[in-house]
Amino acid sequence: MKAIDLVIKGGTLINASEVIEADIGISDEKIALIGKNLEGKEIIDAGGLYVLPGAVDPHVHLEMPAGITTSSDDWQSGSIAAACGGTTTLIDFVEPENNQSLREAYMLRRQQAENKSVLDFGLHMTITNSEQNTLSQLPDLIEQGITSFKLYTTYTGFKLDDTQLLKVLNAIHKLEALAIVHSENDAIIQWRTQDLLKTDLNNPASHPLSRPETAEREAIHRILSLAEITRAFVYIVHISTRQGAEMVCHARLRGQKAFGETCPQYLLLDHSLYQQPDFEGAKFVCSPPLRKKSDTRALWQALSNGTIQVAATDHCPFFFKGQKDLGKDNFSKIPGGLPGVGLRLSLMYSYGVCGGHLSLNRWVETCSTAAARLFGLYPRKGCLLPGADADIVLFDPHKILTVRKDILHENVDYTPYEGMQLKGYPVMTIKGGKPIAKDGTFLDTKITGKYLARKLPDC
Ligand SMILES: [Zn+2]
Repeated sequence: MKAIDLVIKGGTLINASEVIEADIGISDEKIALIGKNLEGKEIIDAGGLYVLPGAVDPHVHLEMPAGITTSSDDWQSGSIAAACGGTTTLIDFVEPENNQSLREAYMLRRQQAENKSVLDFGLHMTITNSEQNTLSQLPDLIEQGITSFKLYTTYTGFKLDDTQLLKVLNAIHKLEALAIVHSENDAIIQWRTQDLLKTDLNNPASHPLSRPETAEREAIHRILSLAEITRAFVYIVHISTRQGAEMVCHARLRGQKAFGETCPQYLLLDHSLYQQPDFEGAKFVCSPPLRKKSDTRALWQALSNGTIQVAATDHCPFFFKGQKDLGKDNFSKIPGGLPGVGLRLSLMYSYGVCGGHLSLNRWVETCSTAAARLFGLYPRKGCLLPGADADIVLFDPHKILTVRKDILHENVDYTPYEGMQLKGYPVMTIKGGKPIAKDGTFLDTKITGKYLARKLPDC
């Protein structure tokens, strides 16, 4: 038998399908075996702790260009923040420029990340047109391990009309890949924004009014309809409303391969935050916007009953001072996005498990396993099984903490969760069998993450 380098001893192991008391033996960066009374060269005592597969965050935007500015976490700070919060795999986006081939854009983005990321990472490809010259590049990308394609129904330069969506979804279907879609009705947003710019120009509270829930419901329904016609697998990102979740639920009941994601901000925060004085509401500007309390309740329910599979962060930070204030005189120019990559696992435990919405298994499934499956990383990521990468989190379910910006490593001057109480926090993050973060401190700045060539979705 292979020599065991490291044993994680005496913890409670949580997978999507089981909770067991066992030790984990690690060798050559992989989980070698799981069992009782394992011996190894090094021992980590996990007594009283939960032992989880490293969390997978399939929706982050690190150093992403946004108009005249760029999201403030680069691959290094963002991946360190994620690691300290118990996330070990990130999936970000490639957004090709007009004059670039998809392959060239992918290579540049990959190099940018390989130089800086401390975590393993994958990439989605954003598709902004339906020309044959673009669609003919998809098989090559799948060979490179890009098996999910991001489509937009809004934003100039990104949005596709229905005919374009049909063409792209059809191409994605033929390759058995996954379409991931930002779904909001662009015309409704433009219409409402023009009105609000005349009446309430300077107010961040105009933001949610400019993107009503109807805009989300309509676009999700339309995307699901177009995906049904083309038989494409489809994943709706950042669902923010009860009505949006209902659309996915109905599609799934019809037998469609439709999947959904929501984020802690849509589960825990609500639109009253836009009313804060002194432009503070801008800290919460993201698209889609935060919604009503009744929507947060419906989203917990959808996550708990399986209508929505994944809790991702859509981490896209901008400094309050120097970036969000680009929209001081015009709410529609506030860069949209919230930080959150460092807190997901703890927030989902504190409010999901302790709040009675999620079982321990469902917590791990929504933060790790479901994304690993849908994005072609399972069983290398997303589970504690022999053969999987030894990406493991030790989580103390009794640790009590108040969220302060200072406990996080995100490169931004605020957290939308400031002051919230946490019960349960990661105390150690292990990547490839090596501890890389402990008690909120990042340990090993020399470590580098690898690009993950992903398989087709398991759905
Ligand atoms: Zn996003």
